[in-house]
Amino acid sequence: MAAARHDLMQRLPKVRGEYTADAPLAPFAWLRVGGAAEILFRPADGVDLADFLAAKPGDIAVTLIGSGSNILVRDGGIAGVVIRLGAAFRECRVAWQNDSAHVHVGAGASDISVARHCRDAGVAGLEFLSGVPGTIGGALRMNAGAYGCEMADVTLAAEALDAAGGRHPLAPRDLGFAYRHSAVPADFIFLSAVLEGRRDEPPAIAERMAEIESNREDSQPIRTRTGGSTFTNPPGEKAWQLIERAGCRGLRRGGAMVSEKHCNFLINTGGASAADLEGLGEEIRRRVKRETGVTLEWEIRRLGRHADGQTMRAGNGQDGAS
Ligand SMILES: Cc1cc2nc3c(=O)[nH]c(=O)nc-3n(C[C@H](O)[C@H](O)[C@H](O)COP(=O)(O)OP(=O)(O)OC[C@H]3O[C@@H](n4cnc5c(N)ncnc54)[C@H](O)[C@@H]3O)c2cc1C
Repeated sequence: MAAARHDLMQRLPKVRGEYTADAPLAPFAWLRVGGAAEILFRPADGVDLADFLAAKPGDIAVTLIGSGSNILVRDGGIAGVVIRLGAAFRECRVAWQNDSAHVHVGAGASDISVARHCRDAGVAGLEFLSGVPGTIGGALRMNAGAYGCEMADVTLAAEALDAAGGRHPLAPRDLGFAYRHSAVPADFIFLSAVLEGRRDEPPAIAERMAEIESNREDSQPIRTRTGGSTFTNPPGEKAWQLIERAGCRGLRRGGAMVSEKHCNFLINTGGASAADLEGLGEEIRRRVKRETGVTLEWEIRRLGRHADGQTMRAGNGQDGAS
């Protein structure tokens, strides 16, 4: 293994950022489970990342992770190179055009920091981001949304790199937003976006954000190790209601548990493995199918290899890089 990692490192291009071999990923994932990245790459900036993509051998897999709030890294870790965007990707700048705000954000900026920056700058319309614990890159990929607003409503433009490092300016129509989905190719890496807001007084914006915070405290297990909504809502249905009907609230497998507070959230109660969590998710899918006839689809992105080294897909597996 160590020799293979050394070989892989030797084949990677020289970069200004940092490579780390055998880097544990659990600390980066909200569920706090999963194995290591064969190589973790933190690019110095967008140019460094583009140069890396252009020069890297084509057979080396690349996986992008944001703040890990919607992923389940499997116990066998992730082969190839895992990329995490750092400080150079956290821009947040407001440009006013009369009463319309254009908010320029880096893909590595956290949603909450963007919401707070906008609040302080008197920009309304992005309060919902304070309820989504991810990065702008993850929010673009997942068309994240909360409290009646989603990325599709506020994104004026974005920029992404393709697998060969080519830059692509993207207009809203290119983003192909749908429910918790963007049609942008799976191997594109978002670098930045321009979001639209409008003028309002900071105290009024702060009040709306406080309301979102309090609703979240009441309805989601946000102070636990969780991965957010486990399954997408099927058309015309709520996933949590189907899970409740199938009797899965509080169901356990190993250290994994279905939240009592919100039964579309899985929780790592302490010693869960990724296999416990994925197995529990699959058990829920089986029971919901049996009781209601509905097939739940995973919202959480399951990444990497099982502990036995298999990348085999479970259920409707939507494993995949970025
Ligand atoms: C307690 C809790 C509450 C949540 N509530 C909500 C909610 O109300 N609404 C909601 O929509 N979501 C919610 N989520 C889910 C999650 O926060 C969002 O999906 C978020 O947008 C994921 O962002 P991330 O940076 O954590 O991405 P990750 O979880 O790290 O990755 C998710 C996907 O995005 C891709 N990705 C990340 N960055 C980039 C990039 N720069 N370029 C291309 N692809 C990228 C990854 O490859 C992966 O496929 C919640 C999660 C938790 C833990």
